[in-house]
Order: sequence, then C-alpha cells, then structure tokens
Amino acid sequence: MSYIFNITIYLLAALDMKIYKFGGASVRSAEGIRNIVNIVSAEPDDLFIVISAMGKVTNALESVLEHFMKADRASALKKLEEVETYHYGIIDELFGDKAQRSVAAPLFEEIRDYLSTGVGDDYDRCYDRLVSYGEIISTTIISAYLKQQGIENVWLDMRKLIQTDSNFREATVRMEESQKHLRQAADFSKSRIYIGQGFIGANHQGDPTTLGREGSDYTAAVAGNLLDAESVTIWKDVPGILNADPRIFADTVLIPELTYLDAVELAYSGAQIIHPKTIKPLENKEIPLYVRPFGNPQGRGSVIKATTDRPVNTPVLILRKNQVLLTLRPRDFSFVMEESLSKIFNIINKHRLKVSLIQSSAISISVSVDNSRYLPGALDELGNEFKVSYNTGMELLTIRGINPEVEQKTTEGREILLAQRTRRIGRFLMKGLPE
Ligand code: ASP
Ligand code: MG
Repeated sequence: MSYIFNITIYLLAALDMKIYKFGGASVRSAEGIRNIVNIVSAEPDDLFIVISAMGKVTNALESVLEHFMKADRASALKKLEEVETYHYGIIDELFGDKAQRSVAAPLFEEIRDYLSTGVGDDYDRCYDRLVSYGEIISTTIISAYLKQQGIENVWLDMRKLIQTDSNFREATVRMEESQKHLRQAADFSKSRIYIGQGFIGANHQGDPTTLGREGSDYTAAVAGNLLDAESVTIWKDVPGILNADPRIFADTVLIPELTYLDAVELAYSGAQIIHPKTIKPLENKEIPLYVRPFGNPQGRGSVIKATTDRPVNTPVLILRKNQVLLTLRPRDFSFVMEESLSKIFNIINKHRLKVSLIQSSAISISVSVDNSRYLPGALDELGNEFKVSYNTGMELLTIRGINPEVEQKTTEGREILLAQRTRRIGRFLMKGLPE
C-alpha cells in the first residue's frame, strides 16, 4: 500500500513543472538578475527558465549587423565593444570579481571571429546567426550567477533543441522534432532547474534562427507545450495585464482574468503585453499563462486561460504605432475586388508586411501595415499593377468594449483618416502625434 502511495506522490511531484520567462527589461541590470535569484528561490517546483537578451542588446546587435552588412567592419567592432562593455559591467557588479568576465569572453570572441569572415550575402540568415548571441550571452551569465548563489541549474543551448524551418528572422517551430530534443535535454533528473534562451532555435542544417522580435514569450509557450508544464509565467515590469498601456493612457486598470480568445484579440490588435504567437501552444493544451509583476512577486498579476467567469468588463485600448496607410487603385480600371485583393495580399505576404487594417471602397483598397524595412520592396511591386499612395507615421487605435465616452476621450482633436466599427469594437487610424 505504502509503495503505491509513494508512486502516486512521485507522479504528482513529477507533474509540477513550471515555465518562468524573464524578459530583457527584467535582466537589464545586476539588480534585476538578483531579483531572479529571489523569485527562483521562492519556487519549490521544477522550473524551466526562459530568458531574453539583456536590456536593449538585441537592438545593439542589430546595429552591429547593419555595419557588418555594409562591410564597415570597424564600426561593427566598435558597436560590439559597447555591447561587451555593458555585459562586463553587469558581471562585475554581480560577482564583484573581474575574473568572472571569462564566463562571457569566449562568446564575444566567437562573434569577433564571425565578423572577420567576409560579408554575408543573406541579410536574414546573418541576422539570426549574430543577433541570437544576445540570448546566449544573457543566459550564460545568469546561469553562472545562479550557481554561484547556490542555485544549481543546467544551461541549455536552444539552438540545438528548438528546431525550426528556415524562415530566418520569423522562423516557425517544428513542434515534434523540438519536443524530442527538449524532453531529452530537460528531463529534470539531473537538476530541478533548466535555463534556456528565448527567441532562438535552429533549422535542420543547424543554422541559428530567430522567432521574430519579442519572440521569447513564444519560446516560453512552446516549451510549456512541449514539456507539458503546469503553467507558464511571464514576469514583466507591469502589475499584470492592464486595459491600456500606462505609458500612453491615464487611469489604467488591471484585468485579472482573460480567456485565450481575449488575449489573441488583444495581441493581434497590437497590445504589447504578449507576443501574438504565444497563445496557440498554450491553448492547445489548456496551460494557463500568468503575467506577474517582476518588481512585486507577491502581486497577483493576471491569468490567461480557457474560460473565466469574470469577463473583461472595462474598455480595452490598444495603440499600434508606426503604421503606414496604403491606398491602392488598379491601374487597369478593372476594379474586380477579388482579383485585386488576392494580388495585393500575395505581395504583402511575400514582403512580410504585417497588416493591421483593411478597408475597401468601389474604386480603391486601403490597407494599413506596420512600417518596416521591407516596405519599399512591397511598394515597388505593388506599383506594377496599382496606383499606390501612402501615408506614414500613422497610429491605429483599437477600442474593445467601445462607448461614446472613451471614444471621445481618446480621439478628441485627432485627425482620423479611417474608422471602422462593430458593436463592440472601434478602430481608428489616426495621424501620429509628434513624439
Ligand atoms: N531579445 C529579443 C528581442 O528583443 C527577444 C525578446 O526579447 O523576446 O526582440
Ligand atoms: Mg528583448
């Protein structure tokens, strides 16, 4: 009897595994990393920890790449040195011992070696190889620091575990292959804690890939799915999921519970709170996603799950900035809507533009997209068949749970180029305010 009892306990214990994800803002300083030690020490369950690059390192590595691709090696190395100095500052503060820089030094040597090769020709492929180091460096430092603090953990190279397609900079995870690798690597027999990088993986040939900017949330969700985690927690520098971005709107309120569907809707409207791809892997296995305040681990935060008996009852405001409004008219005056639409969306998809709004009239089609470096290529191709005009510097405001009062308050005095409305949702494409 007691034998069976013990097995039951063991199985229950084995099921208790959580994913914790810490983003760039949480690990931007020694202070933040010390806070991780507190949070992790307070957690008795098995943990798989997903971490982003520190602070603004991904942006900095993007500019290293920019110089490298222009064959300006000197500027690339100078920028890299800034990145290195920043990390060494954090190491010095954490360990109080400059000798510990040796933890990260070999990684910077690898990057320098890479930069000494000839200029790559495939921008996106080179991007992933170089920019993925941000996460490799951050996890290496944090894993070493946790060990020094007596928290045993195993560091994993996600470039060997998360298998993706070769869609560089926006790769899709191959779930089955990744599951096999990840389960083998993180079986929780050697350790209670595993640490892996968010945002990165590799294709079949072993070339590093990335999952799209801010993709670490997605990694956390994928890991949760593949390892059958009990929950995924994203620690963030906010109290939880708010009804609006407090940096933009006043009087925000916390939304304690949301459904997966609510969350998908918010994410696709441009809410910065979680990456849009995050929900699907969790929804498939009904794994709850907690968003908890990094600065106040006792705070209750928000949870996203399958159902809730506390529906969102406050208007939600989402502002998507840096939009471009394209207005397209067929050059041949055909105005066959179906044909035009399919041509337009083929081109838009090919050039990886992200559509935020669509509207058609008898003689033209308006599409709003996120501005990006791929825009000129798309405009060029669209120009073959359409007369294209465009306005940059737009903002798209989505109000979910719209009422006249919020609408008035948030759009007053603004120049609105396009508005769409259903009973519950209003969307306004407005000229952006000067920064
Ligand atoms: N470091 C990557 C980025 O800044 C991924 C992430 O932070 O989620 O986009
Ligand atoms: Mg980041």
